[in-house]
Amino acid sequence: MINCVLPIVIFVLVVFSFVAYAIELYPVMVSNLIGGSLAIFTLYDFHKRHLVFFTAVLIAVIEIFVLLSLFWVVGFNHYVLVWIVVIPITAYFLLGRKGGRIFTIGFSLMVLMFIISSYANWESQGFTIVGMLNLGFAYLGLILIISYYELSMQEALENLEKKNHELAILSITDSLTGAYNRIKLDEILFSEISNYRKTGKDFAILIGDIDFFKQINDNFGHLYGDKILKEITQIMGETIRETDICGRWGGEEFMIICLNTQIGGAVFLAEKIRSAIEDFSRLAPHQVTMSFGVAKFERWDTIETLIKRADDALYLAKERGRNRVEQL
Ligand code: GH3
Ligand code: MG
Ligand code: MG
Repeated sequence: MINCVLPIVIFVLVVFSFVAYAIELYPVMVSNLIGGSLAIFTLYDFHKRHLVFFTAVLIAVIEIFVLLSLFWVVGFNHYVLVWIVVIPITAYFLLGRKGGRIFTIGFSLMVLMFIISSYANWESQGFTIVGMLNLGFAYLGLILIISYYELSMQEALENLEKKNHELAILSITDSLTGAYNRIKLDEILFSEISNYRKTGKDFAILIGDIDFFKQINDNFGHLYGDKILKEITQIMGETIRETDICGRWGGEEFMIICLNTQIGGAVFLAEKIRSAIEDFSRLAPHQVTMSFGVAKFERWDTIETLIKRADDALYLAKERGRNRVEQL
């Protein structure tokens, strides 16, 4: 927007400097040249520092400076008065709804004072009350339109941001359990590995698998199985620490990534979850237990070797009787 408005302002001011020179209105020429130079400096400064709000205010100030000097020199003249309408449009575009409104109110008050103070000159300049009212209402109409436009733009942008945020959350969430999905788990594993390489911070993973889940589905139905998956997710969420990340790895398997954790801490957490699920199971109409495989990331590991170790440990836990934690 600024890159579009500023060149136009510079162009108009340069053209009007020439026009003012041609019709021997030297003070206007000087003010246009000053405004033009300021606009060129503003464009240069914007490209250097990218200060959007500061630049927007500067543009508005330049416009007001040039307009006021124009009024000052030529007094009331119907050609000049028309330029007043440019200010709210640029102010709203550049400063947004709130800034534009404040700027426009301030500017309109200034113009009003100027008109009232030079009331005596009106008639000699060919202005009538009806003419001024026409101009005033057209000005007001323009402000309302541009203000409404800014409001709908703002609402549309806010809506878009909200939807983007919702989409971003959906894209990393498992729809059934509300835990993180595999995409997010993979992303965190990647970032933790690069973090480990940079800072040496340890981390470990747990892979948990519900024991004999197929039987639960077969005996109580798939929907009931889904309910158990949600309840187990909730238990895990309540048991892990704030720095642990819990996600659904697939089917009835979950992964927990424990940041800043040694193998002992990860095994302790797995045991805590295992026993919490066992406790929960005592209230259920059937037994639900979970087995865990735990592995800590080592210097020579890749994502694949780390997951393979945790998986092998889980396999061991199943082999050794289920409802237990193993580490490798
Ligand atoms: P094990 O103790 O060896 O892990 O036995 P298991 O029966 O849990 O193992 P298996 O891998 O044979 O069965 C996993 C079952 O999980 C099979 C599948 O129908 C069920 N399952 C996977 N995803 C879902 C799901 O989203 N909802 C439900 N209700 N069941 C699911
Ligand atoms: Mg399984
Ligand atoms: Mg299972």
